Amino acid sequence: MQLLDGKFLSKQIKQEIATEVAQIRERGGKIPHLVAILVGNLGRSETYVSSKMKNCEEIGMKSTLIRFDDTVSEAELLAKVEEVNNNPDMDGLIVQLPLPAHISADKVMETIHPAKDVDGFHPINIGRMAKGLPAYVSATPQGILEMLKRYEIETAGKHCVVVGRSQIVGLPMSILMQRNTYPGNCTVTLTHSRTQNLAEITRTADILVAALGKPEFITADMVKEGAVVIDVGLETVPDPTKKSGFALKGDVKFDEVAPKTSFITPVPGGVGLMTICSLMQNTIKAAQGEIYS
Ligand code: NAP
Repeated sequence: MQLLDGKFLSKQIKQEIATEVAQIRERGGKIPHLVAILVGNLGRSETYVSSKMKNCEEIGMKSTLIRFDDTVSEAELLAKVEEVNNNPDMDGLIVQLPLPAHISADKVMETIHPAKDVDGFHPINIGRMAKGLPAYVSATPQGILEMLKRYEIETAGKHCVVVGRSQIVGLPMSILMQRNTYPGNCTVTLTHSRTQNLAEITRTADILVAALGKPEFITADMVKEGAVVIDVGLETVPDPTKKSGFALKGDVKFDEVAPKTSFITPVPGGVGLMTICSLMQNTIKAAQGEIYS
């Protein structure tokens, strides 16, 4: 078993991005600028956004955080999105999800200009990604592809089983893994909460992507010997042995599954760190007009 080490890889990628930003600065180019909109003060969202902003600063990129109370109206939020769309200094825009119930996340995502949609959630980017055209790809699946690439994991002809069909992880992951490219060319099975005999299906996976948000759901009996296991899950569970009183858990029961695998991502220290790198890479692409010129 070998760890797919997100900590190591993300450090390497951050270094590469920092060098790229420094070169842009040296030649007097536009410093990539990521804008995040945060509505309300949900603890988890606060943590994710501040980590994204901190990482941007560390590598020399510009970042701006725009905050709203959770009482903000949908119209006010959409007006701010339009303002960012029209600001040439702002290259990438993310709106941290979830949003309060009175605001349509779909409407917000569709209002972000596709050329600034570095999260890859706009229908145009999802459609272009599905067609294999240049597009912003959702940050977590893109980070997973980067991991598979850097560890030179063979994917062609393999059976990839994705557990979870969310718009931001499972669905794009399934589309990406079936594409006629590397990483890709897998035979893909996309599963969800209505899937029958899930364990029978996951046991046939050469590459298993768990993205369901149920801590330690995937147990050893659900995994084939030698499989590559990608654990996207990231949930906090109470843990009295920890000073904070909680621990981060993935969707995979790591201790019993890991010995059966050829490669596995740990939680924390796996996919999560790659996600932030993808976001920064997408923001550089946005600043340079690489996808939409
Ligand atoms: P989500 O929107 O809640 O979707 C969960 C998916 O899992 C749904 O498609 C659901 O099926 C499916 N599911 C739920 N219970 C299941 C079961 N018992 N068997 C099979 N499928 C089941 O979640 P998400 O946003 O994709 O996030 C999933 C996990 O990844 C969470 O823990 C989240 O925190 C984590 N995450 C991590 C990162 C990162 O950077 N590391 C990024 C994003 C998300 P239905 O469609 O039928 O309801």
